[in-house]
This record gives sequence, C-alpha cells and structure tokens, in this order.
Amino acid sequence: MPGSSSGERRAVPPVPDYHVHSRFSDGRDDLEGCVRRALELGLPELGFADHLAPACLGEDEYFGRKAGWLDAYVEAVRRLAARHPELPVLLGVEAEFLPEAAAETLTTLAAYPFDYTLCAVHYVDGFSFDESESREAERWHDVDHIFHRYYETLLAAVRTRAFDVVAHFDLPKLWGYRPAADLTELEEEVLGEAATAGMAIEINTAGLDRQPVGEAYPALDLLVRARATGIPIVFGSDAHGAGEVGSSFGHAVALARQAGYATSLRLSDRCDSALCVNPQACRGDASRLSRNGNGRSVGPVTARIRERYLAMLRGDREGHERYLTRFADEEEGGQ
Ligand SMILES: [Zn+2]
Ligand SMILES: [Zn+2]
Repeated sequence: MPGSSSGERRAVPPVPDYHVHSRFSDGRDDLEGCVRRALELGLPELGFADHLAPACLGEDEYFGRKAGWLDAYVEAVRRLAARHPELPVLLGVEAEFLPEAAAETLTTLAAYPFDYTLCAVHYVDGFSFDESESREAERWHDVDHIFHRYYETLLAAVRTRAFDVVAHFDLPKLWGYRPAADLTELEEEVLGEAATAGMAIEINTAGLDRQPVGEAYPALDLLVRARATGIPIVFGSDAHGAGEVGSSFGHAVALARQAGYATSLRLSDRCDSALCVNPQACRGDASRLSRNGNGRSVGPVTARIRERYLAMLRGDREGHERYLTRFADEEEGGQ
C-alpha cells in the first residue's frame, strides 16, 4: 500500500492533497482517519472531495447514502476542521458533470459553502467508462469517439464557470486505451477555457499507482501546455482509503517540476506556494509559502456561483449573459 512506511513518509513532499474520498461517498475510511494520515505525512492542507452526482444517477443507492447526506458531510467536515486547528481541512466536492443535469448540479453547488469544487466527467453519453465492468465494453471499439465526447463534455463543464479545479484531466486513458486521432485542438480548447475561467487543474496520482494506465492525470505533455496557458496546479491523490492520502506525491511533484511548474495553488487562500523538491528541506517549514500576491485575483470561482445560480433561478437569461460578460471583462482587466 503506498504511503504506509516511515520511509515513504520521508518521501512525501509537503503539498496539500485536495482529492480525498471518505465513507460519505465511496471511500473506505472515515474523515478522521484521513486527517490522521495527512498529519503523519506532514501535509500542509487536506481537502475532502466526496462524490456529488445528480439524482438521475441514483447516487444514494450506489453509495449507500441517504437523503440529507450532503448536510451531514458538510457538518462533519466543518466539525473535524474545528477539532484540528493544526491542519487546514477544506470542504470540497467532486461534482459529476452531466450536461443534462447541469442546472441541478449548479444549484446544489450554490447551496452549500464549499471551499472548492472539483469538476469531474466519468460519463460520456451515458457510458460510465471508468467502472471496472466498463473495461471490456463494446463502446471501447471506438476509442477516438469516447475521448472526443469526453473532452466535449469537459469543455461544457468548464464553460459553466461553476468549478474551481478540473479533476483527472485525461481520465479516459485509465484502462490504457489510447486515441489514434489527434485531439490537440480539443484539448487546447478545454485548457483555454479553463484558463479563462480561472480554474486550476489537478495532478491526480490514481492513474500512476492504482490504475492500469500507470501514469498520472494529466500526462506530461498536457501539463506542459497547461503551464504555457497559465493554469495553476493542485495535487490530488484521489484516495479512497486513508493509506492512499498523499500517494505518489513525490512523483507528482517531480512531474510538475518537469512541466516547468515552480509553484502550486493553495486553495485555502488562493495563493501560490513554492514546490519543494526536497521534502527534508521543507519539513517544519510548511508555512514558508510564498504569498506573491500575484493576484490570482481571478482565481477559482466558487464565490461567483451564487450570482450565476440566482440568475438561473430567475430564469433571467439576460442577467445570466450580463454576468458572463462582466466575468469576461474582469478577466481582461485583472490580467
Ligand atoms: Zn473521479
Ligand atoms: Zn475522486
């Protein structure tokens, strides 16, 4: 199990893990166990991102959750954070984006005080491509189509501007199927929209050490282009058990450095923090984080969801468009 020895502890760089699942969705351990692991590893922040799926996916049945679970989750994370002043514990969520259920998802996101939201696409045209029973599915006979539809869906998700972070950017590669078609243009479009929306992307280590593909999401070349587009990065283990918190983060930080990143985005205050290559050099110094005030002013957009949501509720199409226009102006003025 990754991250279970003291040798591993020394090898884990002090970067936050913002993608951790608990028993509130499909994680095996409780919140407290994950916090204890993060403290053992010396991570500077921990963010829970349990799955949020629209009702049409029947999430309650799938995850064994009951109505009202989200209220309980929010309260439990907040209580836990209060019990651990030594570690910032953030309330996040991994929100499933289904175009046909976008309004429902945005409504839910707006109704809760999330510190950040991960945007995830695990379904293309009703095909849940990352479940183990989907590995040999007929649908994979057209790998290009799956990737194409995936990026189109992700593009629609990013365009809602309702999310802070793109989760596992190139997820359809998980089983090792690779597209023959050149998807550069579509990928660039998603990256460009993510940059405009002030989103970050995560380096997700599940692909690296727990899935057949054997590499992180996203691949290095995408990461290089993300950096060139000005998109900040965060790190996520996609832990489904406390032992996976911070999993392969040494590798992830090396990958970020290879792509040219010198900082990662800290979600508690939206500031950049230096990426330390040598964990020993940074140990006990996790607070020495650069606050360069470069005004990632735009930064992720959680706070703006409410405005968009209210416009949607009013069915005020004009207001909605005014909002988007103002957002674009701010982006230009803020650079
Ligand atoms: Zn996911
Ligand atoms: Zn996840």
